[in-house]
Amino acid sequence: MIMSDESFYPIIDVAGTPSDMGAQHGRQLRERIHATASAMREQVGREPYEACWDDFQETVEYCWANAPELMEEMEGIAEGAKISFRDVFRINAHLDLTNWRGRVWDAREGGDAGACSSHAVATGSEVLLGWNGDDWQGWMNSGALVRGRPDGGEAFIYWSLAGSVGRPGLGEHVALGANSLPSGRWRADGLLYPMVCRKLLACHSAQNALDAFQTYTRCSPMNYLVADRMGSLINVESTPDNVAVLRPDPEGATPFLLHTNSYLDAGVAGEEVDPDACPRLNAARRLYAERVPADTRAARAVLSDHTGGVCVHLPHACTLVSFVAEVKAGRIHVTRGNPCSHAGEWHNLHANAVRATRSIRSNRGKRV
Ligand SMILES: [Zn+2]
Repeated sequence: MIMSDESFYPIIDVAGTPSDMGAQHGRQLRERIHATASAMREQVGREPYEACWDDFQETVEYCWANAPELMEEMEGIAEGAKISFRDVFRINAHLDLTNWRGRVWDAREGGDAGACSSHAVATGSEVLLGWNGDDWQGWMNSGALVRGRPDGGEAFIYWSLAGSVGRPGLGEHVALGANSLPSGRWRADGLLYPMVCRKLLACHSAQNALDAFQTYTRCSPMNYLVADRMGSLINVESTPDNVAVLRPDPEGATPFLLHTNSYLDAGVAGEEVDPDACPRLNAARRLYAERVPADTRAARAVLSDHTGGVCVHLPHACTLVSFVAEVKAGRIHVTRGNPCSHAGEWHNLHANAVRATRSIRSNRGKRV
């Protein structure tokens, strides 16, 4: 049993067919997946947790049509964890479910819904992508790092709630950050947030990721920041109906992109936007204006900022996970909880570390 007082998130390795990878994921994180499903039921509320399933039928159909490999992986997770597919699907629908609850169930915003900060910068020698995942602090007992290699596919590593098939992380060619956006709209016929992330992590370039992104509809608004090995940086601000692409300032000496949880594009927001609305974004802008981070240490310092609260300390919410990916090196530096409290304790993991199929070392319970 993985205890809640661990300093670091557990990491698991998976490889093979979608079903194989899911079953390995489910077995290795079984307790954590059950705990996550219980917490999800409590967070969403028992009644809406049950009631949402009817509304999500169209989503299930869309996902089977557009991402069958990730649905098979979820079935494998359910089998491996000895839990229902519905529970696994609802873990994957965490953000979409929160949005559904706000839009459809009680027509109000969810309480401490996730916030996040994404920064990407192409230095002279590396491409860095930093991400803080901020949310209800109870999810610290649910998080895990999943590192894998699908048969015939691209290796990946991502952080997510146990039982999820994706979230921000690092692929072989791109790194991904994401930030939730105010939930003006929810649609049933789209991909869930973790599934969009996995599709993007498998892409060969930022442009390729943008092209892939536009072939799917999404259930919820979300901002995705993609950085590729060649130093191309693309920010995709999206609602279920609209997309705006933001690129680095062409006048800037060092290309970088910053994003948090407020719309920067009025067309996507559907209303006027205040570009200075988010103090975390303002803090990141100020720090980048002072000095653009040139290495992982400097990128970590921005993620640990307290002048504008990039590093989140609230009564019930915190920075759950913080990472800096070195895209060229294929390495990710990651910590559990607030980055400020882990000055010297970040773990370096290689995305491309899992060998192809059926030679998986068991990492059950291994701490990273
Ligand atoms: Zn802090």
